[in-house]
Parts: sequence; structure tokens; C-alpha cells
Amino acid sequence: MTVQQLKKRPLSRFLKDFKHTQTHCAQCAKLLDRITLTRRGEIVSKTAIAQLDTLIDENGWQIERQSWAALCRFCGDLYCKEQQHYFDIIGFKEYLFEQTEMSHGTIREYVVRLRRLGNHLASQNIPAPSSANGYFDDSLEPWLPPTSTNNYRIALRKYGQFQTLNQNTVAHFQENKSTSDIY
Ligand SMILES: [Zn+2]
Repeated sequence: MTVQQLKKRPLSRFLKDFKHTQTHCAQCAKLLDRITLTRRGEIVSKTAIAQLDTLIDENGWQIERQSWAALCRFCGDLYCKEQQHYFDIIGFKEYLFEQTEMSHGTIREYVVRLRRLGNHLASQNIPAPSSANGYFDDSLEPWLPPTSTNNYRIALRKYGQFQTLNQNTVAHFQENKSTSDIY
């Protein structure tokens, strides 16, 4: 008699089961509708997953699964695509989630709008304001897109609020730091 071995199956099968057990987004905890699977922060497409035919057993899967996460489509796009942003989109999204009472839908709209605006400004080589005030003083006004201009303006102000909060947090931190340096 040999020791019973754990049955090996292709990785794609484990992932299929994994996908079915995931009900909420690993980032924003929203109920999942369309699922995006990521491995170490990178989106892996359905087609790519179907081709993962390495045979592993349950033990192998337990190690492998730590690299995988199920995200909603919104978070998948947000965390895994276009990392070089004109705006700090991820910070902004977290700010809206944590510091405001906005609904998921409204947050999405703000994020999508700001991301579009960032691409628009970046494509024209417009430098980002050096301080939070720059988001309120209309200095970007001449470069806002001609359609839905007001929506972009509103998103920009909201982003300015986030930047103001950021600046104050940093200033407060440095203040504390210099005080403690005295002692
Ligand atoms: Zn999500």
C-alpha cells in the first residue's frame, strides 16, 4: 500500500472553484457581479486562466491561492491599469470611501470623471498644480474639456478637498516631529 496522494488537478480548475466561492470584492467589499481575478496585483484574463494547466494538489493550491484575489471590475481597473496618473486616483477613491457618505455609484462617477480629466490634461502636457489651492483657483479652467465642463469642475473641487486634507495631515505630522526633536 502506498500513502494516498492528494489528487492533482490543473491550476485552472482550482481557480474556477475559487472564483465561484468569492462573493465580495477583496478591495471595496462590494457584492461581486462581474469578477476580475488578479495574481500579485495583475489582472489575469479568462483566456489566460483557461491555459493554466500546471497540475497541482490541494497543498500546492493553498500556497498558490495567497497570490490571487477576486475584485469587482471597477477595482480591477483602478488598481491594475494605468498606474501613472495625473491625479492620485487611488488615494482619492479611498478618501471618498472613508471620509464621505457617498454611495458606491457616486464614488465611481467621481473617480471615472477624474481619471478621464487626468488623461485629458496629461495628453496636453498641462502640469498638475503644485498646491491644493490650484484645484480651487481656476488655474486649470482653460484646459477643461469643452463638454460636461461643469462635471469636471465639480470633480476637480472634490479632488482639491482631498488634497487639502492631505496637505494638512503632512503639515500636522511635521509639526509634531519638530516638537519632539527638541526633547
Ligand atoms: Zn471593488
